[in-house]
Amino acid sequence: MRAIEIVGAGLAGLALGNALRRAGVAVTLYEAGTLPRHRVCGEFICGRGADALGALGLSEVLAGAASHRSTLWSIQGRTALQHDLPKPAIGLSRFRLDQRLADTFQQAGGVLKLQTRHRGDGASSGLVLCKGRQPSPSDWIGLKLHCHGLETKADLELHLGQHGYVGLSRIEDDRVNICGLFKQRSELKAKRADWLSLYLDLCGLSEVASRIRDSSVITDSHCGVAGVEFARIPPNDDRHLCLGDAYSVIPPFTGNGMSLALESAALAYPHILDYTSGRFDWAETVCRINRAQHSAFDQRLRVARWLHPWIHSTRRQRILAAIARSGLLPVSLLYTLTH
Ligand SMILES: Cc1cc2nc3c(=O)[nH]c(=O)nc-3n(C[C@H](O)[C@H](O)[C@H](O)COP(=O)(O)OP(=O)(O)OC[C@H]3O[C@@H](n4cnc5c(N)ncnc54)[C@H](O)[C@@H]3O)c2cc1C
Repeated sequence: MRAIEIVGAGLAGLALGNALRRAGVAVTLYEAGTLPRHRVCGEFICGRGADALGALGLSEVLAGAASHRSTLWSIQGRTALQHDLPKPAIGLSRFRLDQRLADTFQQAGGVLKLQTRHRGDGASSGLVLCKGRQPSPSDWIGLKLHCHGLETKADLELHLGQHGYVGLSRIEDDRVNICGLFKQRSELKAKRADWLSLYLDLCGLSEVASRIRDSSVITDSHCGVAGVEFARIPPNDDRHLCLGDAYSVIPPFTGNGMSLALESAALAYPHILDYTSGRFDWAETVCRINRAQHSAFDQRLRVARWLHPWIHSTRRQRILAAIARSGLLPVSLLYTLTH
């Protein structure tokens, strides 16, 4: 049986590695960083992500997760919308989820090489790129932290402010994840630990900032990332096999990037098995998986990219709020088109 190498132990890489290893394939996973670690992420997994984990036989890694149904949207400090998700979603920290997936991968005999950056060009046979989003010149910055003792008004709260937004999502062990995306301000001079509260104040989201200050912040959960670009539909490239964010990055307000990563692993899995058993060569395998990804993801990426300015532009937010309050916002349709 042919072996597989995977670059990147994020969700796409770990999920695929686990499934292949359980099918008896020799898998080596290269990870540039350490595991587990806190990552900038809303940690809200919508329904399809859980289905993809189930399809890969990995549902057990979600044990103890919070279940999400109710959501609340506020725009510029006023509640604009409250609705229940069409399908329950899941709240689980990346720290816990990555750790479980890494443990099960290694217990199944997979080789995980931490702090090992892969430097190949990615076009070799049997090499799967799950390297996550690539740094870009974008001016978006993502910040997140966990806290205890913060009462949420819904399972998921999303607050849109001026040039930024923040999500509050319940996760395991009665923690709340607070994760925001903001237009970067280079003039900001403060300790890293204070950035999230400062950005919230600057966006007009002081009510959320003061709720964080009144709670117990879990200090080692602070993290940030800069240079985030969204939803570029990838050109046809049948030399490289890219999964998850390495394929394309969906705007985070959809709470859908982790699902796309897990779904891409589930889509790729049977085709890669065909390659390892010798049924198809690598070039054919890459073409088949890329076709499947284009048909599964491109519409979701396009719609999310189109919606993104409505989330962060102050003028469009006002229009959005008016439509939401009039009850005319096609919430279920928009959810279906982006999930
Ligand atoms: C602000 C923000 C909020 C978000 N909120 C949500 C949310 O609520 N819900 C949701 O579903 N999604 C959310 N996302 C998106 C989600 O985090 C990503 O879509 C998801 O992590 C993608 O998984 P991945 O496996 O493709 O990449 P990653 O999880 O990024 O993993 C890629 C891995 O590859 C490693 N790597 C990179 N290069 C190399 C190399 N050369 N050699 C070895 N290793 C390498 C990296 O160290 C990393 O560990 C959010 C994103 C942002 C920025």
